[in-house]
Amino acid sequence: MTTLSGIATSRGLVAGPVFLYRGDGEVPVPEYVVEAGREAEELRRFERAVADTKRDLESLISVLRERTGREDVRVFECHLMFLEDPTLEEAVRQSVTVDHINVEAAVKSFVTKMRAQFTRMNDAYFKERVRDFDDVERRLLSSLTGFAQDVHLELKVPSIIVADDLTPSETVRLPRENVLGFATNGGSATSHVALLARAMAIPAVTGLVNVTSQVKPGTTVILDGSNGTITINPDKATVDLMESVLSHRSAAAKAEPSGVPAGTLREGGDVLLFANIHPGVAVSGLKDIGARGVGLYRSEYLWLNREREPTEEEQFEAYREAVVEASKLSPDASITIRALDIGGDKTVKGISAKENNPFLGNRSIRYLLSNVEVFKTQLRAVLRASAFGRTYLMYPMVSCVEELNEAAVILAEVKRRLDEEGVAYDRNMPVGAMIEIPAAAINADAMAKRVDFFSIGTNDLIQYTMAADRSNEAVAHLYQPTNPAILYLMRRTIAAAHRHGIKVGVCGESASDPIVGVLWAAFGIDMLSMSGSYIPVMAKLFRRLSRSELDEYAALVNSMDESSTAQDVFEACREWMERKIPDLDDLMI
Ligand code: PEP
Ligand code: MG
Repeated sequence: MTTLSGIATSRGLVAGPVFLYRGDGEVPVPEYVVEAGREAEELRRFERAVADTKRDLESLISVLRERTGREDVRVFECHLMFLEDPTLEEAVRQSVTVDHINVEAAVKSFVTKMRAQFTRMNDAYFKERVRDFDDVERRLLSSLTGFAQDVHLELKVPSIIVADDLTPSETVRLPRENVLGFATNGGSATSHVALLARAMAIPAVTGLVNVTSQVKPGTTVILDGSNGTITINPDKATVDLMESVLSHRSAAAKAEPSGVPAGTLREGGDVLLFANIHPGVAVSGLKDIGARGVGLYRSEYLWLNREREPTEEEQFEAYREAVVEASKLSPDASITIRALDIGGDKTVKGISAKENNPFLGNRSIRYLLSNVEVFKTQLRAVLRASAFGRTYLMYPMVSCVEELNEAAVILAEVKRRLDEEGVAYDRNMPVGAMIEIPAAAINADAMAKRVDFFSIGTNDLIQYTMAADRSNEAVAHLYQPTNPAILYLMRRTIAAAHRHGIKVGVCGESASDPIVGVLWAAFGIDMLSMSGSYIPVMAKLFRRLSRSELDEYAALVNSMDESSTAQDVFEACREWMERKIPDLDDLMI
C-alpha cells in the first residue's frame, strides 16, 4: 500500500480500478516495403482496420445519440462515409500492389493529399472537413498499429481516471457514468479539468507529479479529493476506514430539510447561492440542491465540444433551453451567460491561434473584439434567448474600460439589427464585467460606471495577481485566496461596485470554499456562484451564521496587518470558523 499526496481539487472519497488515460498523442506510423507476394495479406490488414474502425464509430454514434445533440453525431456519420469511400480503398490498393508501400504509409499519404486538396479550396465548409480527415486518419492508424485511444470505447467499467493531465475537451468527452474520479500528475485546484470535475461532482486530486508511473491499468486505488491523497493497493483496514468515514460524512452533510432559500442567514438577510454550469449540464437538477439561479454559464463549452464554430441557431437553442430552465429555479432566478471565454488552457482546434503565451494572449473579450462577426453572432443568440427568461450577459477577461466601450457599441448595433428584423429580446438585459484581471480590480470605479454588475473570477484574479499559472502544479502553492494582495483587490472591487449601486458576485472556485466563500460574504459580496454540488454545504453554513457574525469575521481579517502571510490569514479564518461551526470538517466532504 502506498499513499501519494497532491492537491485536493474536487471533494469526495471513492475507490475503484485505475483507467490509465494516455491522451491524444501522435500515432507512430511505421513505413516499410511490402515484399512481392505479401500484398494480399497487407490489404487484408487494411480491410480489418476499416471494419474495426467502422464498428467503433457506429458504437460511438449510438452512445452519443443518447448523450448529446444530433450535430455531434453528424460529424461521425461523415467519418463513416469517408471510410466507405471507394477512392480511399482504391488509393491504398494501388500503393500496396504497385508501389509496395505498407498500409499505414499508404493511408497517411492518401489523407495528406486529400488534406492538401481541401485546404486549397476557397470554401469554409470544405476547409472545415480537413479536421475530419485528421480524425479518421488517426482512428485508422490507431487500429492498424494497436494504438487504441478511444476512451468512450475503452472505458467500460466505472474507474478512476489516472492521467498525466487532461484538456477540457478530453474531459468532456469522457463517459460520465464510468468516471469515478480523476488523479493527474499535473494541474492545480483551479485548472479547467478541476472545474469540470467539480461541476460534474467527481472527486479529483491533481498535482500528483508521477502517479501515472506508479499504477497499472486495473490497480485498485482510494482517491480522497478532500484531503488530496490517493492510496494505491489499499489494505483491508484502510478500505474499512474509508467506508466508515463515508457513512459519517454523508450523514453530517445531508441538507437540513428546511425550505429556506439557499444562502439565508440565521437572523435574516442572505447571500444568493447560484450555480456555475456549462452547456450539457441539466439545469433542472440544480433545483433539488437549492441553486437560486445560474451565476455563470460557461458558453465556451459549445465550442470545446464541437471543435468548430457553433451557429447562431445552435447557440440560441442551447441558451434558450438554459434560460427557460434557470428561470424556474427560484423567484430571484436569473442566468448569467458569459461570452466566449477561450484562450489560456481552453484552446479550440482551428480557432485558437498559436501564441507564445496564450494566458496573456488574444483571448476572451479580446478575441471577440478582434473577431467581431463571432461576437455579433453570439450576442444575437444571447439577446434572442433573453426573451425567454431573466438573462444577464457578462464579458470575460476585461482589462480596461475601452473594451467595455467597444463592446457596448457592438451590442447596440446588434440590438438595432434585431429591432429592424422585429425579433424579440430583453431591451434591458443587464450587462456585466468579470473582474479577473488585476487592472480591472484596481480600476473598478471606472468599470462600475459602465456596467450593471460585476462578477469576480477569483481563479484568474489570483492567477494573474500572483503570476502563477493555474494549471501548473509546481506553482499551485501560490494559489492564495487569503494573500493580503488578493484581499485588497477583493475589498476594493466590492466597495467600488457598491459605491456605484451595482451588485457584485464571485464565480471563481473560492466561492465554494467554506472558509474563503464565507469570508467573501463577510466582505459584502451579494452572490456566490459555484459548482452545484457545493451549494448544500454552503447553504448549511450560512444558516448557522448571522450578519453580525459575518461582520465580526470581516473585522477580524481586516485587523490583520499587511505583513501577515496568506497562511496566517487562513489559519485565523479557520480558527474563527471552527469556533462558530464545530463540525466544519465533517461538512467539508
Ligand atoms: C475565474 O477565473 O474565476 C472564472 C470563474 O472563470 P474560469 O474559471 O472559467 O476562467
Ligand atoms: Mg476566468
